[in-house]
Amino acid sequence: MAYRWLGRLAYGSRYDRVPWGQRVYVRPGERLIREAQWQRLIRRAPVMTLEEYQRLRTLGEIEEFLSCMMCGESRQQPLFEPTGGTGKGWRYHVVRCPSCGFLYRNPNVRPERLGDLYASGYSNFLSGKYAANRQRRYDLTMKAFSPVFDEGKERRLLDFGSGVGLFLELAERRGFDAYGVDLSPESVEQANQRLSRARTYFGAPEDVPEIAAGGFDVITLWSVLAHLPRPLEDFRKFRSLLAPGGVLLILTVNAQSLLLKAYGPKWSGFTKNHLMFYSSKTVPTLLARTGFAGVAFAPHYGDTIEAGTTALPPDLSKRLRRNVDRSDGGNMMRVLAFADEEAIGRWGGGPLTVHRLHT
Ligand SMILES: [Zn+2]
Repeated sequence: MAYRWLGRLAYGSRYDRVPWGQRVYVRPGERLIREAQWQRLIRRAPVMTLEEYQRLRTLGEIEEFLSCMMCGESRQQPLFEPTGGTGKGWRYHVVRCPSCGFLYRNPNVRPERLGDLYASGYSNFLSGKYAANRQRRYDLTMKAFSPVFDEGKERRLLDFGSGVGLFLELAERRGFDAYGVDLSPESVEQANQRLSRARTYFGAPEDVPEIAAGGFDVITLWSVLAHLPRPLEDFRKFRSLLAPGGVLLILTVNAQSLLLKAYGPKWSGFTKNHLMFYSSKTVPTLLARTGFAGVAFAPHYGDTIEAGTTALPPDLSKRLRRNVDRSDGGNMMRVLAFADEEAIGRWGGGPLTVHRLHT
């Protein structure tokens, strides 16, 4: 409340019509204030051993304690306790790795119990207006990496966590020989009704012979990365499923988001089923440790800016883009990972800056 009043004092009513999700990016000086706030939060948060940390928390039935999956550091820096709000019935703890800065939920969900999160009802919200918005988001995200996804003829694609098949529908339209896997049986059923040539399966890639055979030119992870309890194992598997010259596309919430720095535990990226929160600092570690050769990032300015449908006046729109670029702080992050040198040679040109990874 006090902050709101201060905002009014500093900015008057000029930004009242700018949506909350864009305000922190367009109000003059706000980026620097939020970044300073974040630094102060990190300086002040205690760093404790895993044993000390475990004594503070109770472990739920489907949970386990973790060390940092990116660098192995076991010390914990408790930061946030997001909740779903009144009546939503969930609450968890988010810690920061004091060595590499990785943010993750601790305690986390035991992988063998992951199915519990998606068992039923998960597909219900994945249709209607949601569907149209999602497909537009996929289109716009891929555009940043053009021409990688423009033409699918004679190319194999795997959508990991394919949900009700909204992306696979686009992929088959572009000519890809497309497959999907998902943990929600209801979603898989709906997807296969929606699709004509593409096919989705319930379970893990290794359980489906057509997928386990590998040779994929493209693997996509649409809002899936944050849900993986064993990212290193999964990424080793993805790497082995890719053909020479293959690429992996990731869209996920950005742990460097200026909105996280502004709203802390109320950040939109802290959803019920998210387990780990990546940034352009930690994704390269994951990729290097699992055998990828290079990575490129494309800043994400939000759906309406990307689509050119934003109601922001041009000067504010320009300022938003500038602040996203300077802070590396878009709310979402899109990533293109290159399996090998061949992939970098084939797709790494144009406006993309490829960072080579060394294992
Ligand atoms: Zn770490």
